[in-house]
Amino acid sequence: MKIGKLEYILLAVAVIVFLISCIVTERSARIAVILGVVEEIIPESPKVALTFDDGPHELYTPKLLEGLKERDVTATFFIIGKNVDGSEEIIKSMQDDGHLIGNHTFSHVQLSKISDDAACAEIWKANTTIFDAIGKIPVYIRPPFGSWTEELTSAVEMQVVMWDVDPMDWKYQNADRIVNHVLSKAADGDIILLHDVYPASVEAALRIVDELKERGFEFVTVEEILLD
Ligand SMILES: [Zn+2]
Repeated sequence: MKIGKLEYILLAVAVIVFLISCIVTERSARIAVILGVVEEIIPESPKVALTFDDGPHELYTPKLLEGLKERDVTATFFIIGKNVDGSEEIIKSMQDDGHLIGNHTFSHVQLSKISDDAACAEIWKANTTIFDAIGKIPVYIRPPFGSWTEELTSAVEMQVVMWDVDPMDWKYQNADRIVNHVLSKAADGDIILLHDVYPASVEAALRIVDELKERGFEFVTVEEILLD
């Protein structure tokens, strides 16, 4: 069979494509090695997650959201379902600003003290209410009082989020005390518990952000901490 001009051209094109792909692959491999070395040389910044329970509050939550936005920081909000009514715009702003929204039951009940059926109803009622506001069902739950049972883990298939640092802001409601407690404890990978329903907590949260940023910390959602 005689090889025509067209076949020669096609063969030449195939060879050129093959050679280019070899060069690109070789370069990509080199770049990957260089990036790997760079990652090892430059350590990652320590990360912490601010979490806010019991909101939203009509005054203090918007103030907090404004402060977090100014500082380009994302956080996680565990919302009480019954607080959603009338606060839909606040929750939408949370979502628009990139914060993670989680479930804190519908009426802030101690889940281990009620039947599993009643506990599931509390959780799903909150999920439905949040879904109606933002079009997304929460994946994460913080049980009020940290009260949870193994049975609930298999019943609701949500990820439970506890905490590492608890300044008991709801009890003291003193910004200096909250700030000092968190700054003395916060370490890489910590989840910090606060409540966006007290003015002292909001003031403290923003001061904590400023100070920990100064120390090189990065603020992420709990999802980023838990998936890391
Ligand atoms: Zn709570």
